[in-house]
Amino acid sequence: MNPIVRIQPRNADLGDGMLVRRTLPNRQQRMIGAWCFLDHAGPLQFEPGKGMHVGAHPHIGLQTFTWLIEGEVLHRDSLGNEQVIRPRQVNLMTAGHGTAHTEVSLRDGERLHAAQLWIALPPQHKDCAPAFDQYPVLPRWRDGGAELTLLAGRYRQREAPARIHSPLLGIDIACEEASELALELDPGFEYGLLPLVGKLGVDGEIIDTDELAYLGKGRRKLHLALPAGARVLFLGGEPFDEPVLMWWNFVGFGKADIAQAQAAWEQGDARFGTVGDGRTPRLVAPPLPWRDGNREARPA
Ligand code: MN
Repeated sequence: MNPIVRIQPRNADLGDGMLVRRTLPNRQQRMIGAWCFLDHAGPLQFEPGKGMHVGAHPHIGLQTFTWLIEGEVLHRDSLGNEQVIRPRQVNLMTAGHGTAHTEVSLRDGERLHAAQLWIALPPQHKDCAPAFDQYPVLPRWRDGGAELTLLAGRYRQREAPARIHSPLLGIDIACEEASELALELDPGFEYGLLPLVGKLGVDGEIIDTDELAYLGKGRRKLHLALPAGARVLFLGGEPFDEPVLMWWNFVGFGKADIAQAQAAWEQGDARFGTVGDGRTPRLVAPPLPWRDGNREARPA
């Protein structure tokens, strides 16, 4: 069996000095199944008058998957959706061929704790029509002292409602008291565990908060030891067939996919539509990395 690979988070600035810890993509591990991006925000208390204010920006080739633990975020997109994202719900925006959105705190000066993930779309779905779906009711159950919520995919006899396009799993694990938990794994899946609150014991190895424990394929079971108040994100999926190229907010299967999307955004092309009344500031894409050298493309 492959040893656990411990992946350290790095800080990323979402603007206005709002720092998040990013563990995917990473030099050691770019994806877990189709999960290709993982940011952990908070838990934090914004100062009065401060909050999250992410201006209009485009996406292609992916689904944005928002899992809020504390706080309320207003999502607006170029399909005309305006949705308050609340804890215990999954909000899934399918970018497909192209969409744009803004994400702002519903009220400034409040708490925020969230995981923001992206799911890469497989080649046959990368250019699908954009969509936004909200799933307020999710399979939820107790196992010993832990409460588990199925965010995506199937686990034992349960199935999450989120419309996804490749074999994936996402489970939120929370416990008030110190607990032990045995998980059943699919040996064809690779997995990752991210402790959001507290440390985590994985088959006897201690993983720090915000450290991503990557588990390759071939495992059938896992033993978790959770301290009181722990919160853990458990992700898995069938390894993605084709390596994706990620740049800024775009996911594609070649430089042409990315360059076309970047040009369309810079030109204000109808491909991405308009968010709200169009007066929201638009984020500026950084220059493509392969114009001035051959650095590997990484998201901003
Ligand atoms: Mn976004």
